Amino acid sequence: MLNLPQKTLAKVRDLLLRRQKEVDQQLKSLEKSDPVLLDGVAEASESGTESWLADTHRRLTAVKNDLLDFSSRITSSLLRIKKGTYGKCERCKIAIETERLKVMPMATLCLACSQKFVNSKKR
Ligand SMILES: [Zn+2]
Repeated sequence: MLNLPQKTLAKVRDLLLRRQKEVDQQLKSLEKSDPVLLDGVAEASESGTESWLADTHRRLTAVKNDLLDFSSRITSSLLRIKKGTYGKCERCKIAIETERLKVMPMATLCLACSQKFVNSKKR
């Protein structure tokens, strides 16, 4: 049984919804600044312009993928709040430390498991 008070959950949900809005806006402005996605720019193909376009596009796509990843983590956290499984460690099923959730509202692992995870990744 999870012991997160409703008040904490509501706060986390608000925070996540706010973050999601921010990410959405960032994604939108990113698309606006991507020259490859803009109409007409593809016409301009002076030497050097194309590689600049490709570079910029690649860089923006990387940022975009990060944002999309972030966004999907927010979505799944919101879903877990809805289903009532928010705050439960995905590995050992114990409740994730409340202090940890306050700092990292999208954490899916308890402190101990996440440390094990980080260590196993380093190998
Ligand atoms: Zn755990």
